[in-house]
Amino acid sequence: KNSNIINQTSNSIRILYVIRTSSYFYQKRLIYLLQTWISLVNQDVFFVTDILLPNISQNHMILTKQICGPDAHSMNILCCKTAHDFIIFHRYISEYDWFCHFDDDQYVNVNNLKKYLSTLDFNQPYYIGRASWSNTIKRSKEPYPYSFWFATLGAGICLSKRTIYLLKPYTQSVSQFIDGCINENYHDDIYLGFLLNGYLNITLTKNNHFHSHLEKFFYHNKQIFLRTFTNEITFGFNIPDRYPYYLPQLDKSYLDPYRIRTLHCLLYITQIKECETKIR
Ligand code: UDP
Ligand code: MN
Repeated sequence: KNSNIINQTSNSIRILYVIRTSSYFYQKRLIYLLQTWISLVNQDVFFVTDILLPNISQNHMILTKQICGPDAHSMNILCCKTAHDFIIFHRYISEYDWFCHFDDDQYVNVNNLKKYLSTLDFNQPYYIGRASWSNTIKRSKEPYPYSFWFATLGAGICLSKRTIYLLKPYTQSVSQFIDGCINENYHDDIYLGFLLNGYLNITLTKNNHFHSHLEKFFYHNKQIFLRTFTNEITFGFNIPDRYPYYLPQLDKSYLDPYRIRTLHCLLYITQIKECETKIR
């Protein structure tokens, strides 16, 4: 029986998580992730950030300020930061099976993610996420004059080991990825979709359990939200109305402005009573 358990753990998939963040968002966003889902998978989480962040081990951070310049929400700088995802992915390719990117305004249900990815073969090329637009990106110019789907990085994306391996020639250096974004005049997530579709023929596997804060209606139907939230894989959050606000407010609002701590407690404990005593 014991050896069975050991076997199961050694067979289970290994997921590497990269979180794109910024020193500016440490207190505003990241602390809520550190208090909740990140604490469950600490050893497997790496941060792409402008400068050093407190309370995170240095070898889990990759610093971008020197190469990308001071942080800004611009196409070039975000491309430059995303280029660093691949530096981490390639560095750890032998240790992990799946490689995921999340923004710092996302809650990840790591159990549901693992359950879902376990159903797929990481030796096959996979590009998984939520389709960003309701239609394909129209493209007619060479190379690859075909329309394609892309996933928004803001809902989280996951790539299989095989995909990381195939991406190596295009993402080996930071400048390669940035030059690609600039040449094609695409934002980082569109450029990644282009690389995968055009150069590698890997199409998007859509998963609607990934969510970003761009989705207006996801949070706005109380019955549906309360019935289904335990099945979702990621949640985006944003004030004033893009966060799980139909969950009961179990914590003081200044300690849990996005109700992420509440969500976390309900997902792992499920009894509201117990969460109330645990959170306060
Ligand atoms: N971000 C960053 N540097 C910036 C602004 C944003 O690294 O100067 C990151 C931020 O931490 C987040 C992602 O980029 O992970 C998207 O930013 P944000 O959520 O603020 O904007 P959105 O595009 O989602 O509206
Ligand atoms: Mn965001």
